Amino acid sequence: MRVPFLSLLAATATATAALPPVPPTYVCQRATQLLTIDGKGEDADWQQAMRLSPLRDIEGCAIEDKTVVRMLWDDRYLYVLADMQEPHLWATLHERDSIIYRDPDFEVFIDPDGDTRNYVEIEVNALNTVWDLLLTAPYRTANQALHDWNIPGLQSAVHLRGTLNNPADTDEGWSVELAIPWESITGHSAHPRRCEPPAPGSTLRMNFSRVNWQVRPDTTSPCGYSKLTQPEGTPLPESNHVWAPTGVINIHCPEHWGYVRLSDKPVGSGYESTPVPTTYPAQRRLFDWYTAQLAHRAQHGTFSTALQHPGVTALYCDTQHFLAQATASDGQKLTLDHHGNLSLLPATNERPPLYLWVQGGKHEGDTPWWQQHFARLAGAGIHAVIIGGTVEQLTHLIPIAHSEGLQVYAWLWALNRPQDATALQHPDWYAVNRHGKSCHAPADRPFVEYYQFLCPNSEGALNHLLTQVDRLATIPGLTGIQLDYMRMPDVILPRGLWAKYGLDMSRELPEYDFCYCERCRTDFRKTSGRDIEPIAEQDAAWRTYRLNCVARVANTLCQRIRSHNLRSACAVFPTPQLAAQLVRQNWADFELDLALPMVYHSFYNENTTWAAECSRLAAGQTQQRIPLAPGLHLPDSTTATLPRELDQLLRTAPAGIGLFCDDDLSPEMLQTLHQWCEKSE
Ligand SMILES: [Zn+2]
Repeated sequence: MRVPFLSLLAATATATAALPPVPPTYVCQRATQLLTIDGKGEDADWQQAMRLSPLRDIEGCAIEDKTVVRMLWDDRYLYVLADMQEPHLWATLHERDSIIYRDPDFEVFIDPDGDTRNYVEIEVNALNTVWDLLLTAPYRTANQALHDWNIPGLQSAVHLRGTLNNPADTDEGWSVELAIPWESITGHSAHPRRCEPPAPGSTLRMNFSRVNWQVRPDTTSPCGYSKLTQPEGTPLPESNHVWAPTGVINIHCPEHWGYVRLSDKPVGSGYESTPVPTTYPAQRRLFDWYTAQLAHRAQHGTFSTALQHPGVTALYCDTQHFLAQATASDGQKLTLDHHGNLSLLPATNERPPLYLWVQGGKHEGDTPWWQQHFARLAGAGIHAVIIGGTVEQLTHLIPIAHSEGLQVYAWLWALNRPQDATALQHPDWYAVNRHGKSCHAPADRPFVEYYQFLCPNSEGALNHLLTQVDRLATIPGLTGIQLDYMRMPDVILPRGLWAKYGLDMSRELPEYDFCYCERCRTDFRKTSGRDIEPIAEQDAAWRTYRLNCVARVANTLCQRIRSHNLRSACAVFPTPQLAAQLVRQNWADFELDLALPMVYHSFYNENTTWAAECSRLAAGQTQQRIPLAPGLHLPDSTTATLPRELDQLLRTAPAGIGLFCDDDLSPEMLQTLHQWCEKSE
């Protein structure tokens, strides 16, 4: 909770380089019982609650993961539990509404309707002393915080794992547990709020911050420690570890906070994810413009009437006032004025974002070509590109894509790794079929030469894939990583491909049925207490075993992706049930932030009605836990059929639509897309 100096404000225009392209999101599930607020978090519900993505340095850099935050809610309260590792527990402030961040503390910020105003701040130290305040607006405007505002009925507790104010020993850490009454968040008599009481599906904007000071043992100090100081005698600045970085040392930038969606599912219902709202990129562009204007005013005393920013239109701008507008990918229009008031005008028709797969290897290093290409894609209504390519290619392409307003996902081939030089040195990493033939041997690969699948049970292969995730995560500006081939080889090909390979795949054939490697057979024997049945395709437990192996790899990769504060996406077969049957991919069990079901109807000798039906079935089979962006295989579409096909998918209310094309989109197809987007706006 630091108040920025003017010099800091001036720096904000350029200091957001480490800021992730999108803020983190979290799905808060319902508590199933009354929680005991004792700081310990021992209630069964807390054991099942998902953790938020790891905290980062407030400016955006990754830090050591020493804080685990979880949330729950019910009709009366929003619950927060934070567990913090800390070798030196100390606290000095006993009085309510002291400036708590002068001690090490844990802080919660809640903007219930995302308008960046009227938000709640709560700070707690290791003595369980609370500072609660209401901010009518961020400190950068003229408005003041209401320090004397107290939350009636707030329950808070801390639990110490160690001894407070004793430098002679090493402590383990402490935890904070809060039950925050909804009345205080969504409405207050003195400051009526614009938003309704929470309902399932509501989204709050929130942030968490952990403040730490560098100290040394000091027997003359009452708490046993004193803060390390700078040469001139003032304390060294504190560290601020936050959930959603703001890019500057100032948490009071609510436009950068994370999104928390309230789910109606009870805790323990499994992993749930929620997309970043489609309005976010437009909102971010507006606040970039606003921040640049504040910096200009700090330096020159007035706003700039000449300021330009991609995607932002100044509806009105003089030296003292402005109103800027940006359009979201779903057609909604957002405005921001010089007071920082954000308004959202609903679109008549909502359109979800479009994702397009792109090969990053072509026209290598040709910046002008890519600039024009991305400009065309953005102009046609594409919202994000999923780029396949090397770290170097992606590093080159991301700033170009960003300059056109496109988000970028890296495209990672998961269990199928064609020509992977490292993997090829480890024959035992590869999947083996029922005849004992391995995908490692060129002569024995199923269907096509590039089917070089790894065994889903090989630790070496898994570590290799984790290394690939870590390498991609170093690329600045990435929004997420999309896994492809997160499955086993097709034990049954889609119906439309049988003729191409001269196969009747109405039943599972042993040469296409993997993984019968020694490791998988042995492990199955160990876990099930028996061998695989002689008629293996009828062995339900063996089938489930392999589905679970694939899901475990997927979830290990997704967790690693999220630990880098990136979104985890996956290209999957049309529905979880069909995917389990065809390629051992029960993706209802995958912990994804976005699933891109490849409802490519021609592969199945079906039509687009079938594709839309798959999209609906997939939503049901995943219990709507995973945002879906069903995809079209564009080579099967024409400029005449594309609008109708998009409309059909749109009616299934997807979180997005994926577009796959083997080659560049023709100018005619781009124009058709553009017209469709215009029409649906
Ligand atoms: Zn195996």
